[in-house]
Amino acid sequence: MKNLKKFLAILISTLLVLGMAGCSSPTDTNQPEPVEETPAETPAEEQTGMKPGKYTAAFRGYKSDVKVETEVDSEKIISVKVLEHKETDGIGTHAVERLPKIIVDSQSVKVDTISGATTTSYAIINGVKDALKQAGADMKKFELVPPAPTPKDVTLDTDVVVIGGGAAGLSAALEARRNGAEVIVVEKMDITGGNTIRSSGAFNVAGHKLQIEANKGRKDIEEFIEFTMTGGHNMNDPALVRYMIENSAGIVDWVTELGFTPEIGETYQSFTVPGYAPGLIIGLQKFFEEMGGKVMLSTKATEIIMKDGAAAGIIAEGADGGKVTINAGAVVIATGGYGANLEWIAELDPSLKGFVTNNHPGATGDGIVMAQAVGAAVRDLNEIQTHPTVHVPTATMMTEGCRNAGGILVNTSGKRFTNEVNYRDIVSEAILSQDQGFAYLIINQEIVDSNGNIQGYYDIGVLQKFDTIADLAKFMNVEESVLQETMDKWNKAVAEKNDPEFNSQFTWIRNLSKGPWYSVAVSPGIHHTMGGIVINTNTEVISTDGKVIPGLFACGEVTGGVHGGNRVGGNAILDCLVFGKTAGEKSAAYIK
Ligand code: ADP
Repeated sequence: MKNLKKFLAILISTLLVLGMAGCSSPTDTNQPEPVEETPAETPAEEQTGMKPGKYTAAFRGYKSDVKVETEVDSEKIISVKVLEHKETDGIGTHAVERLPKIIVDSQSVKVDTISGATTTSYAIINGVKDALKQAGADMKKFELVPPAPTPKDVTLDTDVVVIGGGAAGLSAALEARRNGAEVIVVEKMDITGGNTIRSSGAFNVAGHKLQIEANKGRKDIEEFIEFTMTGGHNMNDPALVRYMIENSAGIVDWVTELGFTPEIGETYQSFTVPGYAPGLIIGLQKFFEEMGGKVMLSTKATEIIMKDGAAAGIIAEGADGGKVTINAGAVVIATGGYGANLEWIAELDPSLKGFVTNNHPGATGDGIVMAQAVGAAVRDLNEIQTHPTVHVPTATMMTEGCRNAGGILVNTSGKRFTNEVNYRDIVSEAILSQDQGFAYLIINQEIVDSNGNIQGYYDIGVLQKFDTIADLAKFMNVEESVLQETMDKWNKAVAEKNDPEFNSQFTWIRNLSKGPWYSVAVSPGIHHTMGGIVINTNTEVISTDGKVIPGLFACGEVTGGVHGGNRVGGNAILDCLVFGKTAGEKSAAYIK
């Protein structure tokens, strides 16, 4: 009931806001705009009703309007071109690159969307539909579902097969390749990147020389181990935590060696690579493919092949629906978590029933099921993390970077109520215990300018901008004087690095005294699943009777134990990189 109330309150406030921001699709720029018309010898309408020419239309994608030009003759679609867009690299850009050709080849707008890039796909499809209507097409002719491909069974042989193309899988694949193995990655979605590509891309590091030189960040490995263990309620596997953090500085050197230029991030202990998470995924895949690695998209692993007690390959469902058998010397499971499997989550933790998730649709826990089927042990499955600051109606996570850079959370009375940079589970709980179970996140222009991801929330219409505190107070439906007092107290606390009310830790220098200000209503949403397959520090999968399963490795969110009962922000990508690299090394060594 409380959740329903909270959801309705946020939904109503958001619908009002989205209405104000004119974010509904199609947008104003969506007016059909014939560009050039080629005269036809016979009046086109007499042939098929299509008037030859080029027609443009723009529909709202995920982050921007997607302007599409469609050229037709009297009979058919000749070309589809995306003229303008600002969709996310590595996600929407895949739809921009692939869908136009699919539409032209099939002469249909009833094509499948690119999974993982659905919103951009629909913007393109709607652009073509609009153009066809402008050309006077008989729409029925272009709305035939293209025939499904004939399924073909294939069998491949390789040294290492990696299931899942997120940060963990691509790191493992690349490192196995660098160690001389033939490697195939299978990815069930139409694009790689999983949850990783949707994250901020920042990863925690302790004790790297750049941090020491810049006197910025965590220098002490032991302190960071303790922070991670305490954050995880000491349920973590201490050996995995120690291994991850002791290897964190080395991982910065590894990504540098690969060709990235990591930078010290906004969050004081973190690093990022330019372009953040999309840049990381695009780069890992590019380096892997340049070295001769193979990525098979739209290929869903369903089973691990075992021979004489050792993993010997996988069975998968291919892009055309055929059976794909990959015989391999070693198998790496890197399928991510189960944060999008809401039914399973509600079973595992009934208190999370009805929560939204910000996970990508492929995060359904397949790797855990496949591993259990071959005797792997699993742990902590009911340890599921909510991210405190999710915009519920669009399930958009507002990165920790907002609060770590000095943003605050304010309740419906216009007051702060917690230390904003506390562990995620504590902040989530604090928000849920406020009136209606939600809070407003407040940041300002300086914070927006500091981080491309945060700018993106404004681009997609989730963050709202206000020039005055009075307007901000109106949006939040709170007394202006109360909000002003909250802001004044906060600005003073930052200046004095002392927060007598909630004991915030001031690792930033910005206060919120200068506008414009930005705000969004937030509430916790499913974010990370801490439970998963039991591994050791070699990423070898451990069976229910405590033994290593030969040839079977796992890394990333599909594993359990690294984060215990609560993951520390910034430790997910570190986990993927450190254990992904290890899985690559160890699987390549195993096949030798
Ligand atoms: P991690 O952070 O551990 O790398 P991600 O969620 O980023 O996890 O990536 C996991 C990837 O694995 C996703 O791209 C997801 O689509 C993919 N995946 C999940 N299940 C399967 C499966 N059965 N077969 C192939 N790929 C899968």
